[in-house]
Amino acid sequence: MSQFRADLHCHSTCSDGTFSPVELIQEAKKIGLSGLSITDHDTINAYSTALPEAEKLGIKMVSGAEFSTRHRGVSVHILAYAFSLNDMSLQAFCDEHNERRLLRFQKMLDLTKKEGMHLDDTEMVRAFEAGDPITFGRPHLAQAMIEKGYVDSVQEAFKTYIGNEGSCYYPTEVFSVQETIDVIHAANGLAVIAHPILIKNRKVVNDLLKMDFDGIEGYYARFPEDRERQWVHKGKERAWLVTGGSDFHGTVKPQIPLGCSWVCEETFDRIYEVYEEANKACTQQNDF
Ligand code: AMP
Ligand code: FE
Ligand code: FE
Ligand code: ZN
Repeated sequence: MSQFRADLHCHSTCSDGTFSPVELIQEAKKIGLSGLSITDHDTINAYSTALPEAEKLGIKMVSGAEFSTRHRGVSVHILAYAFSLNDMSLQAFCDEHNERRLLRFQKMLDLTKKEGMHLDDTEMVRAFEAGDPITFGRPHLAQAMIEKGYVDSVQEAFKTYIGNEGSCYYPTEVFSVQETIDVIHAANGLAVIAHPILIKNRKVVNDLLKMDFDGIEGYYARFPEDRERQWVHKGKERAWLVTGGSDFHGTVKPQIPLGCSWVCEETFDRIYEVYEEANKACTQQNDF
C-alpha cells in the first residue's frame, strides 16, 4: 500500500497561487497525495469548488486558511485548520481582511503610478477593477510589473518596490495574533504557527511560543531536516501538533512543488477528528 501523505499548506487562485482550487485537487491526486488543506491568505473561498472535486477524486480534505497578523511590527502568518467552514464569525473575519486588502491594493497601485508605472491594462489590475473574488496581495502587483516589463522577477519587484522597505509599500492595519487565535478557536478550529523557520526576529518567536497555539508548522517547503528539527522539537515539547506543508503557489514559485513537505496519516487524522467535531458543533448552533 502506498504511503499516506497530506500537504497542509498550499495556495489557490483565490489568493496568490496560480492553480485553481479544482486544479490543486487534481494535482494532489496526480502526485499521489491522500490528504490536502488549501490555506489561502485570509480567505476560505476555495472550498466551495475544492470540496466536491476532492470528494470525486477521493482526496481527504480539512478546512484551512493562512491569516495575516502583525506582532511587534513584524508580519506573522497563522495557519487555521479544522474550523467549521460555515462559521459566520470566521467568514466575517475573512470579509474584513478582504476590505483591508482592497484598500491597500488601491493605495499601492497609486504609489506605482507615482513611480511612473502604468499597470492598468494588466491581467491582475483588470481583475481587481472587475471585483474578482481574490484576496489581492503584493504578489499580484509583482505579476503586473513583470507583465509590463518593469521588473524581471517577483524577487526584484519585492526588493525594489513592494517589499517592506520598497517605494510602493503601504503598511496596513491587521489583526493581532491573539485576536486571530480567538477567531479560530471560536470556530472550533486549530491555530498553528506558520513557517517559524522564516521568522527572523527572536523576540517574536519567543512570544509566539508562549501563546495558546495548538500546533507549529515543523515541516516546511523543502527545508533540510536539520533546520526543521528545532521546530519539530519545540512543538513536541509543548504537546502541540507538528504540521507540515509545501506552501505551493504554482508557477510563480516553480522550485516548490506540491507535496514537497507533508504530514503522515496519524497527524492528519488528529486534525480531521477536530474538523468533524467543528462541523457538528456548527450544525447544532445553526439549528437554534
Ligand atoms: P501580502 O499578503 O500582500 O502582504 O503579500 C505577502 C505574500 O507575498 C507572502 O505570503 C508571499 O507569498 C509573498 N512574498 C513575500 N515576500 C516575498 C518575496 N521577497 N519574494 C516573493 N514573494 C514574496
Ligand atoms: Fe502567498
Ligand atoms: Fe506564509
Ligand atoms: Zn502560504
